Amino acid sequence: MDLNVLILPGDGIGTEVTREAVRVLRHVAGKFNHGLHLSEGLLGGIAIHRTGSPFPGETAALAANADATLMGAVGLPEFDSAPPSKRPEAGLLGIRKALGVFANLRPVRTYKALIDSSPLKNHLVEGTDMIIVRELTGGIYYGTPRGVSGEGAEERAVNTMAYTRPEIERVTRMAFQLARGRRKKVTSVDKSNVLENSQLWRKVVLEVAHEFPDVVLDHLLVDNCAMQLVLNPRRFDVVVTENMFGDILSDEGAVLAGSIGMLPSASIGNRKESGAWAGLYEPVHGSAPDIAGQNKANPLGAIGSVAAMLEYSFGLTEEAAAVNKAMEIVLDSGRVTADLKPSGTPATTEQVGQAVCEAI
Ligand code: NAD
Repeated sequence: MDLNVLILPGDGIGTEVTREAVRVLRHVAGKFNHGLHLSEGLLGGIAIHRTGSPFPGETAALAANADATLMGAVGLPEFDSAPPSKRPEAGLLGIRKALGVFANLRPVRTYKALIDSSPLKNHLVEGTDMIIVRELTGGIYYGTPRGVSGEGAEERAVNTMAYTRPEIERVTRMAFQLARGRRKKVTSVDKSNVLENSQLWRKVVLEVAHEFPDVVLDHLLVDNCAMQLVLNPRRFDVVVTENMFGDILSDEGAVLAGSIGMLPSASIGNRKESGAWAGLYEPVHGSAPDIAGQNKANPLGAIGSVAAMLEYSFGLTEEAAAVNKAMEIVLDSGRVTADLKPSGTPATTEQVGQAVCEAI
């Protein structure tokens, strides 16, 4: 298969972890005989320095032509007091919008070697393996009317949680398709006992479910879901929910796994002409200026994002499983960065990348 991938290393540790993720991607492509075509672009602080814009037109064109985009992280302290449109983070919103990625996927799995760093008891968290699918471009973060009006006792603020049927259908279909490649279970999360918006959500999810008779569907109210995530995380396979509920639940899910440096994410849009799903893959963490340039950032979130790319954009499940398995082997071997190793000599970012390649 030909894999056309745009690399956007970004700022700070983004460049360091991306280098290792690319090392792993090259290794997998070689080992499984895929053609790998990489392009590289500017995003974030480095893009502002070189072009004046956090999301230059040239990067937008490269992203449009690539099947998938692998991103590091953006953000430089020198821009902390700049207006929002002139900050590196504006590049992130720009590329998400340009790619039309409407679903954010956060795989949450626990690794045996890290189980003690989870805040939950081992027996609760062991074996957790789920994906939270969050609708990314609709809901209360975008709905209108919105704003603040009035003054004094009359001052009021309004936000609107709005969804159209097609917006719910496409993200629900994606969740069901993902479930088909996994344990065939979808949990839809809403607040349909209170919100009309959630009643539409549930109605549409039920309709879409008819297209996937091989997948089991259940529904949870968001408050109960928040509770079940910590009481019984193993019960979940694919969780699908609207934007704000997903924002909150995916962070709750994230802490199950241990270090922030471990967490991959994927944002997915429509299918490209090539048949691949347009996707933006990035670790959950930021540019970590406090450890940038020291070769000590954990690259596993970025490497896990490569596994997600192979699976979701290209449907290469065997290759994705090889990367995930290799990460597990490396974790078990103790060749891990300082964030996962409170005592003893930690491995460098580069050593972890090399170790993952060896394990593959
Ligand atoms: P951060 O995720 O960069 O760092 C938080 C803490 O976690 C730091 O102590 C850091 O050293 C540690 N950490 C993060 N990733 C790590 C890794 N891979 N290995 C080891 N330790 C790791 O969050 P922050 O400090 O709030 O933000 C720093 C900058 O990153 C800001 O400019 C922020 O806007 C930006 N940011 C960007 C993204 C993104 O590009 N997607 C996401 C979050 C924050």
